[in-house]
Amino acid sequence: MRSYRADLHIHSVLSPCGGLEMSPSALVQELKHIGVDWFAITDHNSVANCPAYAAVAAQNGLAFTWGVEIQSVEEIHILAYFDDPDKAQRFDRKLYDSLLPIKNDPDYFGDQVIIDEKENILRVEPRALMNSSTWDLATVVQEIEAFEGLAIPAHIDAGVNSVISQLGFLPPYPEFKILGITAGLDLPKYLAEHPEMVGKSFIRASDAHYLTDLRHGSCIIYAQEPTAQEILFAAQKMGGRYIIV
Ligand SMILES: [Zn+2]
Ligand SMILES: [Zn+2]
Repeated sequence: MRSYRADLHIHSVLSPCGGLEMSPSALVQELKHIGVDWFAITDHNSVANCPAYAAVAAQNGLAFTWGVEIQSVEEIHILAYFDDPDKAQRFDRKLYDSLLPIKNDPDYFGDQVIIDEKENILRVEPRALMNSSTWDLATVVQEIEAFEGLAIPAHIDAGVNSVISQLGFLPPYPEFKILGITAGLDLPKYLAEHPEMVGKSFIRASDAHYLTDLRHGSCIIYAQEPTAQEILFAAQKMGGRYIIV
């Protein structure tokens, strides 16, 4: 077992409103600089840039997890993590088919570029990724789990696109063992206001769209290996594992 400094919510150059500065090499250099040794790319509704970032992470000795930030029909953001890239890509194709067929407006959101590890542009995604899936929250979780992924509601304390902002409460079903929180949240104060969340596990992450966002959001995960499965084990404090936010 070992401890990882993890930032599991980062956007790549694919995400609309993301900075083109978030290239794999620049991102990995900055993560090394600030001491993050495990990260996930979680673009809006797509895993398409995970291969490029996974390759550069491996070249630099950083742990990488395939992720995606799904927007449900209720406009709730849910993070999904996969240990099997093949299952992640199969999930991704199904998710893509569930997206509202709206074209990206490059003048407003910028081009959604899919790159290789050398930063060559492989293609430009025409469909607006910063949009909702037609799946509701329960369906999103069901689909993630059907592909052996781990579902974690993103930034539950955020004023928009969180379970709480969209529904007003944490639903009993689907049941979440881990909740995502924003970089700056004062968790003890938040729990005092939300006693229903006492006993849950949390992961803090940067939700970075720019390199400067990276400095403020990470957590310590003490686990056997850097996998989605181990995040769940750590959340349940199994066998001495734990998460410190
Ligand atoms: Zn989000
Ligand atoms: Zn995000």
